[in-house]
Amino acid sequence: MQAGYQLDDTIIAPSTPSGQGALALIRLTGPKSIEWTEHLLGHQKLSSAASHTAHFGLLKRKDGSIVDEVVITVFKGPHSYTRQDVIEISCHGSDFIVQEILNLYFDLGARMAEGGEFTLRAYMNGQLDLSQAEAVADLIAAESQKAHELALNQLRGGFSKEIEKLRTQLIDFASLIELELDFGEEDVEFADRSALTQTVEHIQSLIQKLIDSFQMGNAVKKGISTVIAGRPNAGKSTLLNALLQEERAIVSEIEGTTRDTIEESIVIEGVQFRLIDTAGLREAADQIEAIGVQKTYEKIEQAGLVLFVFDAARTSAQQLEEDIAPFINQKYGLILIANKTDLLKDQQALHPLSALSAEVPFLKLSAATHEGLQELHDTLIQVSNLKQLGNQQAIVTNSRHYEALVKAHEDLHRVLQGLSGGVTSDFVAMDIRQALYHLGSITGEISTDDLLGNIFGKFCIGK
Ligand code: GDP
Repeated sequence: MQAGYQLDDTIIAPSTPSGQGALALIRLTGPKSIEWTEHLLGHQKLSSAASHTAHFGLLKRKDGSIVDEVVITVFKGPHSYTRQDVIEISCHGSDFIVQEILNLYFDLGARMAEGGEFTLRAYMNGQLDLSQAEAVADLIAAESQKAHELALNQLRGGFSKEIEKLRTQLIDFASLIELELDFGEEDVEFADRSALTQTVEHIQSLIQKLIDSFQMGNAVKKGISTVIAGRPNAGKSTLLNALLQEERAIVSEIEGTTRDTIEESIVIEGVQFRLIDTAGLREAADQIEAIGVQKTYEKIEQAGLVLFVFDAARTSAQQLEEDIAPFINQKYGLILIANKTDLLKDQQALHPLSALSAEVPFLKLSAATHEGLQELHDTLIQVSNLKQLGNQQAIVTNSRHYEALVKAHEDLHRVLQGLSGGVTSDFVAMDIRQALYHLGSITGEISTDDLLGNIFGKFCIGK
């Protein structure tokens, strides 16, 4: 939709989801928005009205019959979302009315907007850069306070600013090298290569910091995938239910009843955890269960956090040591949970078990009585390392940005190699241009039709 993308037609779409509601909102943008709306209102004057004003009116068909009583809000370009004239129509929340109003505008020549097309126009007209446009989608999808904070910061340009700073530093650097190129024949070296190396190393370390933030940023955006693992009957489903405060997983006394994985979300201190209960970790007794066990291992591979649950009353130190060995020193966080402490007559019995795990957070709780659950909440927050979030300005939450940063980092690595290996300036300059290209692709200084299609195609209609 972007190649030779037309900004001069007028597009329309419902901005609220379909179904019955008190109100629905229809949005219109493009050069004819105001004129056509005046026409449908019976030539009520909107073109002379101030921007950002609301007007009551009746939208009528050609035969004079009324479709609805509406409130029209006028936004005059460039002081609007798309920087073109925008009309927002608040009508009654009925799919029939919405369709009728769309038809009125289609008859006048309006076109149904494609997914994300309002935001695409905002980007094309310089209202938002690309990473800000992407943040619009993230903001709508945010399901927790932290995800919302990150998306809002990105929308407000916090992330773009960081990228822009890096680009500026690189451009300054590139101009030194290019200068050297211009005078190449005279064999002049303007730029002191060791100073150049330092500059590139500095920029590279800043990029690395952003790359490192992705794991956390992605976890916050999508929720931290938290696998509840352990032997059958350890109390995994009971713990899941306790965390969810409601019965969702099947709890049963027959070993191995949780055959598939169950996934539910909880939000603790504004952070979303996606809890995954898994089939018991043991030799599969039958075929169906074998699939469940296989899934367990797949889920654990992708986890951000593993809660390893064991029956405190029935697990020996040796068994625990064997069971947890595969989970130690993995890339995910690990919390050991001694469950069923309500059955323990002697709490001392846990000492040899807890001694095993000096490196790993160790909690005692009863999933049945909920005793110790608050400590688990606190530990979840601690282990997921999200406290760092507050200290870092820019956090990467978008895999497209992450990939671009990784590529820019590689480009700079080649620049450094070039500088130390005495490679000629034109090769160094080429790698710098590549790094600039990759950084520029994040904010959309540089973009291609494919890229834009990919990003905006995922938006809903009306955004
Ligand atoms: P899973 O196979 O690991 O998912 O284990 P379940 O959650 O199905 O629990 C197995 C059995 O242990 C059930 O009978 C639960 O009621 C019981 N159970 C789970 N947690 C506790 C606990 O903290 N205390 C007691 N007394 N029983 C528990």
